[in-house]
Amino acid sequence: MSNDTPRVRFAPSPTGYLHVGGLRTALYNYLFAKRNGGKFILRIEDTDRNRFVEGAVENLIDTISWVGLDYDEGPHKDGNVGPYFQSERLDIYKKYADQLIEQGDAYRCFCTPERLKTLREEQQKAKLPQAKYDKHCLYLSNEEIEKNLEEEKPHIVRLNVKTGDNVVIDDIVRGRVEFTRDVIDDQVLIKTDGFPTYHMANVVDDHLMGITHVIRGEEWLSSTPKHILLYNAFGWELPKFAHLPLLLNTDRSKLSKRQGDVAVEDYRAKGYLKEALLNFVALLGWSAGDNDEYFTLDDMIEKFSLERVHKAGAIFNIDKLNWLNAEHLRKKDKTEILKMLREELAKSKYKDLELSDEYLMLIIEAMLERVSFVKEYIENSPYFFERPTTYDETVVKKRWKDDSVELLQKYVEKLSMLENPTKEDFETSLKQVAEEAECGAGRIIHPVRLATSGVGIGPGVYDLLFILGKDEVITRINEALKVIPDIKAKIK
Ligand code: GLU
Repeated sequence: MSNDTPRVRFAPSPTGYLHVGGLRTALYNYLFAKRNGGKFILRIEDTDRNRFVEGAVENLIDTISWVGLDYDEGPHKDGNVGPYFQSERLDIYKKYADQLIEQGDAYRCFCTPERLKTLREEQQKAKLPQAKYDKHCLYLSNEEIEKNLEEEKPHIVRLNVKTGDNVVIDDIVRGRVEFTRDVIDDQVLIKTDGFPTYHMANVVDDHLMGITHVIRGEEWLSSTPKHILLYNAFGWELPKFAHLPLLLNTDRSKLSKRQGDVAVEDYRAKGYLKEALLNFVALLGWSAGDNDEYFTLDDMIEKFSLERVHKAGAIFNIDKLNWLNAEHLRKKDKTEILKMLREELAKSKYKDLELSDEYLMLIIEAMLERVSFVKEYIENSPYFFERPTTYDETVVKKRWKDDSVELLQKYVEKLSMLENPTKEDFETSLKQVAEEAECGAGRIIHPVRLATSGVGIGPGVYDLLFILGKDEVITRINEALKVIPDIKAKIK
């Protein structure tokens, strides 16, 4: 492993879904690796048996591959430093814990949960700033330890935090952060079930996997001094640390499920594009230095640097995500949109309609500026998929005039004479009717739109008519002529 090649990792605990904060961590690691010719590793931190969730790992990997953050090493991929599941590395952690015990940097602790509870309560009563283990078991004699082991007394392994200087982190994002050594507890390294704690497994793996930069959320900053003490105890070189700012709700509280979705899967299910999600999470704590906010993954790789990650909490603004979704949708390849639209249609009540690619492409083009999500092609313009069954009364009231019936009849007459009218033909004949009737084109445009779509807004009217086609337009107008005058009479 060359020292020149940065190696970074995303190390999620499979809790059942990928949190948007996790996506940001994964993305920043990915961008950093790609920007610097490094390797991006996925490691599954699955040693907490109490939090085991069936299918969580598969779900996580599926979501990561959906957004397209391909990892170089990790589950189901090559790599020389696996396995990449911590649950398959238990022997390794045990070996290193034994080494620390041997060195006097860790010790076995046989204290019962009751003793620890009493100790905590006493310390709380004495108003000690921080509850800490009192190192009772550090002073057990070898005989006592042997006896306990023979009796198979449950025990854990703790780090022996010695007195010394404050622990200093030189964080790429946060700068120098200093922790008083006194407050650092003799943390647990191995639990009674023989599984390592997060701290132990994380440090051992980061070292053995050659991780050069640890890029993770700020919530892990307070664990870092413990990690540094572990690195020191092993005599290992420290990686560089970068702690990413917290994600906040718009009211500046910590981003929580209560105020909206936090699972990437939820956004995927709602029809957000992966490009928009990645762009959005990239901006949660990073900026390119100019005012640009629209980025493709390639743009981000080109521009990303940890130095441009800021400390201040990043506000999760859903409006921006929606805006980015629209922007990315507009720039997307039309054939890809076509594929997605077909998927949406297959889920909708229009699933049995036989619609040509050509027809759908015309809709895609005409509506492009009017939708932010693919499903809005259906929601915002159902009239492309079925005849109107209702007519918007406010539009009827405002746009349907005494001469509307006559004007539309004339338009139908003109259209009937045309063969395969182009968009321009629809326009020219409408204008002719207006001219002959000596009225403005608007006098026909609005009722025509209402008659053919049931509503007052939509794409350009000639696009609408051309897409529907002459026969359908005529049928719809004739149908509307039977219904709208009655509606008008009622609401007058
Ligand atoms: N397993 C931790 C998590 O779930 C990893 C934290 C770290 O990156 O060190 O986020």
